[in-house]
Amino acid sequence: MPVQDAADTDWQQAQADVITDPGELLGLLGLDTADLPAALRAAADFPLRVPRAYAARMQPGDAQDPLLRQVLTSPEELAPTPGYDTDPLAEAAHTPVPGILHKYHGRVLLVVTGACAVHCRYCFRRHFPYQSHLPTAARLDEALSWLNEHTEIEEVILSGGDPFSLSDRRLLDLLARLATIPHLRRLRIHSRLPVVIPGRITPALVAALGDARWQSVLVLHANHAHELTPGLAAEVRALQQLGVTVLNQAVLLRGVNDTLPAQEALSLALFQHGILPYYLHQLDRVAGAAHFSVSDDQARALHRALRHRLPGYLVPRLVREVAGDLSKTPL
Ligand code: SF4
Repeated sequence: MPVQDAADTDWQQAQADVITDPGELLGLLGLDTADLPAALRAAADFPLRVPRAYAARMQPGDAQDPLLRQVLTSPEELAPTPGYDTDPLAEAAHTPVPGILHKYHGRVLLVVTGACAVHCRYCFRRHFPYQSHLPTAARLDEALSWLNEHTEIEEVILSGGDPFSLSDRRLLDLLARLATIPHLRRLRIHSRLPVVIPGRITPALVAALGDARWQSVLVLHANHAHELTPGLAAEVRALQQLGVTVLNQAVLLRGVNDTLPAQEALSLALFQHGILPYYLHQLDRVAGAAHFSVSDDQARALHRALRHRLPGYLVPRLVREVAGDLSKTPL
């Protein structure tokens, strides 16, 4: 029987019902549209995409709302900035076969889709050539045979795009194929979708991630306390009951979460939802996102202040990804 229940359909409808017009988003929030022509030009390269469930958490009338800033196309994206590149992590150099990114010892990323429920303006893959990596049936066969041959790989990380934008049926088919590769022990999934569309973690998905075949880790991506919902807490609890580890990685973003109160509130809210703060990333220098950058000195000072406020298990590691390095680099 196909894995598609009512819950699966609900989140898929929410994923389809998105705002793609900057003018509509500004209108919904009662904001000035003076910058609209430039916002439309910025959207031409990397379209605006905002689920309505996410927009509903924004504060009407507040142009600086931290959720809005993450997703609204902005004229600042159009300014070329030296040092900001279309492939800031040089991922093209770490692709043994299409769809596989092999950067770190013992683990690989499998790019399973280019689609996301939301388009984050600071995304380091906003220029990623998904068309040459997407898992056509032939490419997926090639990627899985590569994994089969590489017995040193113990962990597979589903990435994208957002892996949870795939239907349960496609995800579960993929997991079933991965489960036949004996040397894979750990399954990790990086996803922002359960944060922006509560309800994504369906019972079928909980069962698949909690399967005893895997040591499973779900790494969510929330940047601000206002992004978290009670529904997400219930979904996380269901995963944890089956032994799934749930972590969060955030990106340090100017005007979104670059203050001590914002970081403190994020860590506390994550813990309240059963999620441990794992990484706080310095922005990857991707073209179009320079206006989000926070200096290393400011980032270190903020992190030091956070360590003074919270117990260690609520303080994420402050890191930067450096192209070619064998692990993330602590700041
Ligand atoms: S959800 Fe993740 S991959 Fe998708 S646009 Fe946002 S940061 Fe990028």
